[in-house]
Amino acid sequence: MEKIKKKKCRGNRTAQRRRYKERYPEKVHSQRRARRKRHRERLAVLRPPKVEKLKPEKKPRATLGIPYPSDTKEYAMAYYQLVKDRRRQQVNEWRKTNPERMRALRNKRRGRETGGRNFTYQDVLDILRQQKSMCVYCRENIKNDYQIDHIMPLSRNGENSKNNIQLLCPSCNARKSNKHPVDFAMSIGLLV
Ligand SMILES: [Zn+2]
Repeated sequence: MEKIKKKKCRGNRTAQRRRYKERYPEKVHSQRRARRKRHRERLAVLRPPKVEKLKPEKKPRATLGIPYPSDTKEYAMAYYQLVKDRRRQQVNEWRKTNPERMRALRNKRRGRETGGRNFTYQDVLDILRQQKSMCVYCRENIKNDYQIDHIMPLSRNGENSKNNIQLLCPSCNARKSNKHPVDFAMSIGLLV
């Protein structure tokens, strides 16, 4: 005959424990406390002693006169705007104080765009002399305020060379934009 293994009844055991707890609540409590203490002591040996880290002093946040952090979004937007404005101002100042370098940069960019030849600052001065410092279209004096225009616009496959540039006053250059030179001349009544 096969021996049937008797299963231990877990429910019975939990019931036993519950009864023990009910009968000796103080005992159970002190045992638990002792167990916790032993555990803490064991950990204390294993764990290296805690060293108090010196926290770096926190810098006060720039509030820009805006309540912080009561309205965080408003603060963030204002801060972004401030940084943006400041940077734009720096760039504008550099451009103002370095007009020659700006011109050179613009030419370089155009040259990259077209992959074509470049012209030099000296070329521009020569053309200004040839034009007697006058705007090609309105004949205004542009000695101190000229813009380099591509006679045939770069966008119409005009060459980026000194043979394709003329100097215009800002308003004529803006009006000409990327128009065909003949179309533009006709539009302002120069060629009929
Ligand atoms: Zn003009």
